[in-house]
Amino acid sequence: MKDLFDKGVISLNIILIGPPGAGKGTQASLIANKYNLPFVSSGDLFREHRKLGTKLGLLAEKYMNQGELVPDHVTIDMVMNWLDQNKGGSSGFLLDGFPRTVQQATSLEKALGNANPVGPAVYINVDKDELLRRLTGRRVCMRCQISFHIHSNPPLIQDQCDKCSKPLAQREDDNFDAVEARLDAYRRNTEPLVAYYDHQNVLIEIDGNETIRQVSKDIVESLDCFN
Ligand code: AMP
Repeated sequence: MKDLFDKGVISLNIILIGPPGAGKGTQASLIANKYNLPFVSSGDLFREHRKLGTKLGLLAEKYMNQGELVPDHVTIDMVMNWLDQNKGGSSGFLLDGFPRTVQQATSLEKALGNANPVGPAVYINVDKDELLRRLTGRRVCMRCQISFHIHSNPPLIQDQCDKCSKPLAQREDDNFDAVEARLDAYRRNTEPLVAYYDHQNVLIEIDGNETIRQVSKDIVESLDCFN
């Protein structure tokens, strides 16, 4: 695959699927940098709207705080808008956290058309205990959005960002109840996408319980073999 991609013969329309806490955000930027693809996280787009206090941000906020999915029509419009503005001329894109429902997946397919199919769909699979440990221990810099973990990746000074020294905080939806709700929403709405993309022969499954480095290596190896 890599040769054809490098020559511009094929495009990579990568989507990342996985439960919250699977490390999609971390892997998304590593992959996008390696293949030079525009990428976006739908969760980041919503957080940006919330921070700016837009109408969309205010609407999304109540769902986000409860760990529920934002309604499909709102999410689809937002991501399609991003694609329109960012995809032009590039040999693909990478989406982190979208699609998250079958309806979102079919809308994406329609928007891209038959000549430009979705794929590969990278599914990062992680055990539930590990997800709970990762999410409830995550702390984020409110200014630069860098993530730390209280045990496995602590900041040099407790509760302070290594880069800008601003205080770290727990994301509102990383408390135990919201995490349980997000995992439940994932099981109900997003897990069916694994079978959906497997059926289309574009699924790559990765063991996300490993270290960031190992997961990244496994993804790159699988992408290089993808055809
Ligand atoms: P994330 O950062 O990916 O965990 O997303 C944070 C929150 O944003 C989710 O819990 C949802 O409320 C919302 N969200 C992000 N992506 C989607 C999506 N594709 N569909 C619906 N809601 C989403």
